[in-house]
This record gives sequence, structure tokens and C-alpha cells, in this order.
Amino acid sequence: MGDGLFEAANKKLFEAGKLLGLDADLINTLSKPKNILTAELEVNGNSFPAFRIQHNDARGPFKGGIRFHPHVTEDEVKALAAWMTWKCSIAGLPYGGGKGGVSIDTKKLSEKELEQVSREYIRAFHKHLGPDKDIPAPDVATNPQVMAWMLDEYEKIEQRHAPGTFTGKPVELGGIAVRDSATGYGGFVVAKLLAERKNLKPSSITVAVQGFGNVGYHAARFMHKAGFRIVAVSDAKGAIHSNEGLQPEKVMQAKTTGGSVTAYPDAKHITNEDLLELGVDLLVPAALENQITEKNAHNINARFILELANGPVSPGGEKQLLADGKPVIPDVLANSGGVIASYLEWVQNNYGYYWEDEEARQKLESVIARAFNTVMEDSETDLRTAAYKIGVKRVANAALLRGNT
Ligand code: NAD
Repeated sequence: MGDGLFEAANKKLFEAGKLLGLDADLINTLSKPKNILTAELEVNGNSFPAFRIQHNDARGPFKGGIRFHPHVTEDEVKALAAWMTWKCSIAGLPYGGGKGGVSIDTKKLSEKELEQVSREYIRAFHKHLGPDKDIPAPDVATNPQVMAWMLDEYEKIEQRHAPGTFTGKPVELGGIAVRDSATGYGGFVVAKLLAERKNLKPSSITVAVQGFGNVGYHAARFMHKAGFRIVAVSDAKGAIHSNEGLQPEKVMQAKTTGGSVTAYPDAKHITNEDLLELGVDLLVPAALENQITEKNAHNINARFILELANGPVSPGGEKQLLADGKPVIPDVLANSGGVIASYLEWVQNNYGYYWEDEEARQKLESVIARAFNTVMEDSETDLRTAAYKIGVKRVANAALLRGNT
């Protein structure tokens, strides 16, 4: 899916580094992953390439999800790892950035095989993981059950309890209830704060969501609850549209029973391309990267683009959108709700003290709101550059203080 993505991720680092007046050698060091770990996972006679990329740990342990997807490549995981470094820094979390991936199609696996892949991944990389080393979490096609298998394998090998090694775990194993919906909730908080700044009433805001998975569904659900009108949603099998507005919970019921949002009866079927081009207030790409590029950016009619997927707008696509006066609220800010909840989970695991759900949700909201407001203070540049300036500056300062540049 993502060749050239790492170069795109670094482009922003170089741009921000220059604006900050950072030394060229320091920028160069920050552009390189610290460790590139690879393995081949053997499951039932088949072999699957696996990666753990540890990008930067100047501000704290490496942190980032593990993706199971047939299009996973080393380049993609490197880009995702770099984005984690900047995302954690922008949110003010005491983490660096990392990411993992296995090039595999989970739709072709039995439950037993999925468990085997998860355990094999840990056998391959366990030495490099730990609550004070590198803390994985779910990403595309991995979930709390996968984290449970991974934690179990890790603890068996290490012969100790170490729940803070993984976040996004089931609540029964030290997870946090708000984690499952946290990225979508964070996206909703950002949309709400943006609406307040633009003096827009939620009921006047129309929204199209590309990708009705974990992130897209919960974002749509919270926005709908607050009065936003969700007029279109999509998944890999197609898209639906309703001017009157969709009820996300009902669409999810139809998806669960019918296998796709297109099973929802009370809406018009449109293509995924049509969805991206709708004249809505808020377009929310929440599926995969490179969905808006220089090829289709001029067809985008939304007023604002809220990036809840990682890297859904390519640099060329963003250039065109900005030229057309369509601000992009960048992934490194907009989808940080997940890692913020992960941080709260990790703090709880480390302390052995657990907050009430509502208290955790309020903490999440205040962390992402602080990040959003800090980025919005920089009126001199676009929002992605503003966010990178903050994120890169903090990581650069930590690296300089350590003296290891
Ligand atoms: P998911 O697998 O739960 O959902 C992805 C959804 O996108 C699915 O419904 C899938 O059918 C749909 N999809 C795939 N290709 C599509 C296409 N071409 N057009 C329309 N829909 C398509 O994954 P998720 O956890 O919701 O993650 C989505 C994105 O958000 C990814 O980029 C991920 O890296 C990013 N993200 C996730 C989290 C998290 O907490 N889960 C946190 C930060 C960022």
C-alpha cells in the first residue's frame, strides 16, 4: 500500500526542521529509524514477512500499533513508526515512536491461525519489547484479543506479569474501557473544537466518513450524538449516502449482519470515489493511506478534511487542497486519541491503580484538547506544518539534551 510513504513522512520532518532552524545533521539523525527489526513468521507451512520498526526513543519508550494487512511493507511500517514519534510528541506523551506489521490477509486465516501469527510475532520480537522499551497496541486488523494472545506469549517467555507491555488489551487483562472507541472519540473532540472556533453549530455540520471500521464508526457515533449530520459512510465493499442523515449504530448493525455498510436498507448506494467528492462540511478519511492524492484532490468539495486514518492525504494531495482553501486537520493531531488512551492504560498498569471510565475519558479529552489548542495557536502556517513544528521541536530538544545526535 505504502511505497514512498516514508519519504513523504520525512518530507514534513525536513520542512519543520528547517523552519525551526535545526542543525542539518540533527534533522538527518531524526529522519532515520533507530532499529529496523524483521522476521519471517511460519504458520502452517506458510511464511509471512513481519516488521517492528523502532523509530525514535528520545522522549520515552517506543510506542505504536501492529498492523496485519496484505499490503504491509517495510516502507509503510517505517512511515507509520515515524508518524508515531511526532504524534506522541505533539500530544505531549512521554513516548517515542514505533510500529509493527505483518504482511498477511487475516480474512484468509482461521481463529487458531490468527492466534499463531500473534504468538509467533512475539517469539520473534519479545526481546525488544517491554513497558520501558517498546509498547505495541492494535492497528488495522488487530484487536484486543490479538493483544491478549501477545501479552500471554510475552509473559510466558519473560516469566513475569508485564501488562504495561501492550495497550489496547481487553479490560479483564488490564485494558482501559475507553481505548476501543478512543481514536474515534478524540476525532470527535477535535471536530467539536474546530466547530466552536469556526462558530458552527453541530446541527449545521454535514459529515462523510470513509472507512466504517473501529475509528470511523466511533467518530461517526460520537458526532451523531452531538448533533452532527452523518450523510455518508463507506467500507471496502462500497458506500452509502442519505441527505437526511444516517444513524451510525443502525448502520453498524446492518454491517455486522450483512457484511458491509451497503447492507443498510435506507440509503442510496454510491461509490467510494463519490463519497470522497461529496459537498460536505467535514470529510473524514478513516480507512487507509493515500486516499486523497494530486490525482483526485481537485475533486474534493468538503470544507475541512479531518484525517483519522494515518496518511490518507498525500503531500501532493494536501498541496492542492490547501491551494483550494480546504484545511486539513492532520493525522498526527486528529487521530491521537488512541495513543492518549493507551498512555492512560499504561500509566494504570504501571501504578496498579485504575480510574473510573468517566475520569479516564475526561483525561483523554483534556490531553487532545491541549494539543489541538497548541497547534491552532500557530497562525503562520498550515496545521500539519504547525503540528510538526511542535512535535519535532520537542523530540529535537530531548535528543540534544541526551547529547546523542
Ligand atoms: P479497521 O480495520 O477497524 O477499519 C478500517 C475500515 O476501512 C474497514 O471498515 C474497511 O472495510 C474500510 N476500508 C478499507 N479500505 C477501504 C476503502 N478503499 N474505502 C473505504 N473503506 C475502506 O481499522 P481502524 O482501526 O479503524 O483504522 C483505520 C485507520 O485509522 C488506519 O489508517 C489506522 O492506522 C488509523 N488509526 C487507528 C487507530 C486505532 O485506534 N484503531 C489509531 C490511530 C490511527
